Amino acid sequence: MTASDSYFERAKAVIPGGVNSPVRSFQSVGGTPVFMARAQGAFLWDTSGREYIDCIGSWGPMILGHGNQQVIQAVQQQLELALSFGAPTEQETRLAEVICRMVPSVDLVRMVNSGTEASMSAIRLARGYTRRDYIIKFAGCYHGHVDALLVKAGSGALTAGVPDSGGVPKSFTRHTLIARYNDPEQVKSLFRRYGDEIAAVIVEPIAGNMGCVLPEPGFLSSLEDLCTHYGSLLIFDEVMTGFRVHPAGAQGLYGCRPDLTVFGKIIGGGLPVGAFGGRQDIMSHLAPEGSVYQAGTLSGNPVAMTAGLATLEQLQKEGVYAALTDRTHQLVTGLRLAAERHQIPFSASCVCGMFGLFFTQADKVTDYESVQSTDIGLFRSFFHYMLEAGIYLAPSPFESGFLSTAHDSEIVMRILEASDEAFGKLRKKKEKADNG
Ligand SMILES: *Cc1c(COP(=O)(O)O)cnc(C)c1O
Repeated sequence: MTASDSYFERAKAVIPGGVNSPVRSFQSVGGTPVFMARAQGAFLWDTSGREYIDCIGSWGPMILGHGNQQVIQAVQQQLELALSFGAPTEQETRLAEVICRMVPSVDLVRMVNSGTEASMSAIRLARGYTRRDYIIKFAGCYHGHVDALLVKAGSGALTAGVPDSGGVPKSFTRHTLIARYNDPEQVKSLFRRYGDEIAAVIVEPIAGNMGCVLPEPGFLSSLEDLCTHYGSLLIFDEVMTGFRVHPAGAQGLYGCRPDLTVFGKIIGGGLPVGAFGGRQDIMSHLAPEGSVYQAGTLSGNPVAMTAGLATLEQLQKEGVYAALTDRTHQLVTGLRLAAERHQIPFSASCVCGMFGLFFTQADKVTDYESVQSTDIGLFRSFFHYMLEAGIYLAPSPFESGFLSTAHDSEIVMRILEASDEAFGKLRKKKEKADNG
């Protein structure tokens, strides 16, 4: 029994499933989750002192790597001053100023405590502003565990969604319409049918919660056009992509201008933060100025704001995103070559610092359906071979991976060496199965 095994047993006695977020449980890969103790740069150490190269970065926030000196020092200084006031501070204005400057579509921004809270509030605001009820979301896009957004499948696109979580009344998802990612025609037909009742379209401009699925050329701009035409709001959920793929997020990368944007992850620099922002005339509908209620005891927490500020400051330096893009390309290209060498069906995608791995024969992964073609068994084995080799990948075939600015070329080489062996083992396993 490893240290993690015994920690997990203890955790299961007092925490449902032993974890505070389901994907951490290793349910989709099997085995015991690794209990972590310490992190620095691109590395993690578990409770037994074993070292791993981190390819998750706390699911995105740790874009500068762990233990970044500037972030740690800024947080330490803030700790001396105060943990929380529940009153306005300069720090929250400073972070808001940086976000508004870096993301041109954002005039005003409201801080919250998680991505879930941010997307929930952005949708309430969109409904309050437009005085409409329907929203369109895309199959395979995740916007946090908001009741009305826990709808994925719904193959008949022209019907309202059915909740895919227990505890969500059907009536709560009655106004959630589902469309296929990268399929503007479906969105168009939803608009034709429900046009003047649609408050908003919410989309991950790069889908990062079904692996990493890029928008096809024209997809995002067609959403902009449709929303403008029908007087609906376009909400970009940039909780993952914000400050990850470009200084102005996916909207900066693809030249879009959503009405509202949802943030999280990186803007907290590793502490719990979310935010939503956008056009001034929309944001002014929020309380206390407007009628749309939204509040939070710890919102704009000075420690979290300080960590976020120190993170965003460093991300504005010349060349940061170019270097991150190069590293991630190096990783993804190397993985593809290794898979090819060992004849494993595999495709990989990446955008500056985020990547997705798919064990599939499909030439192209563009939506929730093609993502389902992934061979889960192959992924599971690959995941465990990599973990044994000290590479900590996301424990699910449908999550994105993340590199940080602390991952240098040599560290990426170490990941690639491990992957070459892992793909080799997969090949042997497959040959055995084929012959046996
Ligand atoms: C992580 C994530 C969320 C949810 O954020 P939490 O802070 O976990 O509530 C929402 N949307 C996207 C795109 C995410 O990646």
